[in-house]
Amino acid sequence: MPKPRTVDLRRRTGRAVAIVVLLLLLTTPGRGAAQATLSQELVVAGANTLLGGLTSGIMRWVRGESFLEGVWGGALGGGVHYAGKRISTAGFPGAGLAGTMVGAAGASMVRNVGMGHGMLEYVTLPLGPIVLNWRTTPDSAGVSARLHVGRAIFLGRLLLNDDLRFNGAESLSAGTPVFEARDRVIEGESGHEIGGVEMWGTITLSDRGLMPPLDYGRLLAHERVHVVQETLLNIAWADPIEDWLVSRLPYGDVVNRYVDFGGVYMALAGLMILVLPYEYRPWEDEAAYMESGW
Ligand SMILES: [Zn+2]
Repeated sequence: MPKPRTVDLRRRTGRAVAIVVLLLLLTTPGRGAAQATLSQELVVAGANTLLGGLTSGIMRWVRGESFLEGVWGGALGGGVHYAGKRISTAGFPGAGLAGTMVGAAGASMVRNVGMGHGMLEYVTLPLGPIVLNWRTTPDSAGVSARLHVGRAIFLGRLLLNDDLRFNGAESLSAGTPVFEARDRVIEGESGHEIGGVEMWGTITLSDRGLMPPLDYGRLLAHERVHVVQETLLNIAWADPIEDWLVSRLPYGDVVNRYVDFGGVYMALAGLMILVLPYEYRPWEDEAAYMESGW
């Protein structure tokens, strides 16, 4: 029979997931607003702040601590994460890289507060299939790296695909691998042709010659917002759960030090895509809103 503490933890985790899904649906900007306005911007920033605060608060609550103690620090992290997305849509070279770093730092703050660490004690930064973990505590500061298995396999498959061309300049600017299809248009979930797609932190674009005239700056900005969004899903949601699960296995702590499988990320992302049809996805609303810049 499971211990009462485990039962309570499970029950709280179950409830927490339901609350977060509900909030994702509520805190969504309207799609189709072509130009950013101050009030729209405040709604988007507020939704990010709220999501950060609730994530940390719920993490504390699941751990049997005070929900409220996690909220304020998490809200601050959510605000920094929002700023990262905004930076990633800017037009300067390297905007995506800068935005991803800021967004990941915000996501790290959300996780740190939720786990009861110092707000900036651990900063997790994704660089393609490598995940850097920077420990900032003065007496034991240092940087370690983990291989993200899911991303590495996905990236390897794209690199080996002759129909795709790796775009080095855009990759540097986006801070994540960018590929372009040759003589091919990418199909979305429902089978219709789309300009690009972001998956496992990698951006793939359709062949420009086969697409109707598209604003590529805007398309890339849209996909870069998705890259930054994924940092919150990875760092603040999926990683703490996966690390906890793996740590219960034999040699789990050793595995956790070097490897990030991305299994929980895949399960969470898959579940959200399954549950929400394209028109109702708050992360698509946000990317569609942000892609046009200010
Ligand atoms: Zn999108």
